[in-house]
Amino acid sequence: MKKEYDILIVGYGMLGNLAALLLADMGMSVVVVEKKQATDILVAKSARIDEEILLVLEQLGLIDVVKDLLYPLEGTQIVDKKERVLLEFNQTSRSQFAPLVGFYQPDIQKIIQEKAAAHKNINLFLGYEVETFEQDEAKVDVYISPTGTQNFIALEANFMLVCNGQYSRIADFLKIEIKDYKYHSSVLCVDTVGKKATQVSPNYAQTIYDAEFPVVKMAKGKLHQRWEFQMDKENIEADQTPEKVRRLLAALNPLDLTVESAFVYNFDSKILEKWQEKRVLILGDAAHIMPPYLGMGLSAGIKDVYNLAWKLRLIQKETASLDLLETYQQERQPDVERLIKLNLWIKRLFQSSKFNWIKRFVPIIPKWFLKKKLDLATNLKSGIVGHSKLSGRVVCSPKVANHKGDTVSFNQALEFNFVVLGLDKNPVDALNAASLEYLATVGTQFVQLTPQKKKFVQDGRYTQNLYDKEGKLQAWMKENKGQFLLIRPDRIVYDFCADKTSLNASVKTLGQQLKVSCLFSESFE
Ligand SMILES: Cc1cc2nc3c(=O)[nH]c(=O)nc-3n(C[C@H](O)[C@H](O)[C@H](O)COP(=O)(O)OP(=O)(O)OC[C@H]3O[C@@H](n4cnc5c(N)ncnc54)[C@H](O)[C@@H]3O)c2cc1C
Repeated sequence: MKKEYDILIVGYGMLGNLAALLLADMGMSVVVVEKKQATDILVAKSARIDEEILLVLEQLGLIDVVKDLLYPLEGTQIVDKKERVLLEFNQTSRSQFAPLVGFYQPDIQKIIQEKAAAHKNINLFLGYEVETFEQDEAKVDVYISPTGTQNFIALEANFMLVCNGQYSRIADFLKIEIKDYKYHSSVLCVDTVGKKATQVSPNYAQTIYDAEFPVVKMAKGKLHQRWEFQMDKENIEADQTPEKVRRLLAALNPLDLTVESAFVYNFDSKILEKWQEKRVLILGDAAHIMPPYLGMGLSAGIKDVYNLAWKLRLIQKETASLDLLETYQQERQPDVERLIKLNLWIKRLFQSSKFNWIKRFVPIIPKWFLKKKLDLATNLKSGIVGHSKLSGRVVCSPKVANHKGDTVSFNQALEFNFVVLGLDKNPVDALNAASLEYLATVGTQFVQLTPQKKKFVQDGRYTQNLYDKEGKLQAWMKENKGQFLLIRPDRIVYDFCADKTSLNASVKTLGQQLKVSCLFSESFE
């Protein structure tokens, strides 16, 4: 008999793994199909992730387990061979975390794999390949077989998430056009480990400037380092020889390092024109690939997952229509395009004569002149967002105290639901009956943020009281002239509202944007 699931995920890389955990934690039944065995997927590919991904790990309850494996980074520097900074891009953080962290992918991936393997809502088919699928209005039928065989098993799911990476054949299968940015490069990626704690590039991911042969180097932990050498395509085989790797490293760093792994990866840059075909959704590298300069491919993919997870749940609960999925690509694509363009700009910068000029005058150029702010954070311009200046940005997440007196981050205090927060006010008192009914339908957490530590009184209206320990949330609310704050389940600011009239209007707009079934939208008419 065919087994039925809410969600079928193709690919168990970091992306498929995190998608499974998020959806399973929301109560969905998930099946993951991966053509390799779990240990064969543990490859040191990505070396840095950004703060927003740490918020996802925090929400999944994983941050305490992984935090000692993360190495905080402030941003990216372009340096010359004498380690002089030619240009510095600093990123700002909105949470307890550094804006970027270096990490050794297999260590983190092993932890999230273990959590998924133990999850009661996740079923894993490792060593199985998705061969083909078909879909109708209600479901997707997927045919899988043990890798290399033709012994088909049929699975059925309400949605299929395609997370099978750069070499996915989904575009061919669904006849989706591809936008090609005409970027190709090969990168020799070397991971090293030092004998004692050293910092090869303290607190910054550094690119050593060379127009023909740039090298990225960064710390991924107290002992681990990553080196990425841009290679000539013709010499790929030769470049992987241990002697060549050692020679390349020796030319850059005198420290005694042991090479853990050395792989050559090919990079393209392209975006699929469509990321959704009815009940099939395409995520991460299967939907978009970017050049390697900023190292943001994995982070971008995980943001795809976060963007989709809550929408799938609303559709599953029948509190939003299938049309809501159209906002997935609408919201995510501009962000991905922005990153691709920034990467291509860095490439052009390397090929221009600007750095030679900076190199010549670096001793006399004031340091501040070479420092730039780089904002790579999510910034949704359309989709499910309200009208305030910060709508579409990720919520800030300082420390707060909950009613038990425990200190947690604001992110940790929130559930995977919509949130209505009142500044020193119970938001429930400000909402009219239609708004309350609608918010209950989509799943909402009501939070009263108090400037002083007040005794929590459970008044039967399900409001949670949080004490703003550092005063940062109040300051942020006041700066944005907000008495109330409406937050999406993926921690994106929906709207700041100055009073209860605008709060109710905002909830009404949210309902219209989510295209809820008429049963619930009627009360807004
Ligand atoms: C050298 C290098 C350095 C990078 N550094 C960074 C970085 O620092 N930061 C960052 O954010 N990004 C970085 N990236 C990009 C990042 O690695 C990718 O964006 C990310 O790994 C994509 O994850 P994924 O889960 O989508 O794909 P993958 O990790 O490729 O996983 C896809 C999985 O799908 C499986 N699969 C494929 N086809 C099928 C099928 N038919 N059936 C079943 N299973 C299938 C594959 O076996 C694989 O396990 C880097 C990439 C490279 C190459």
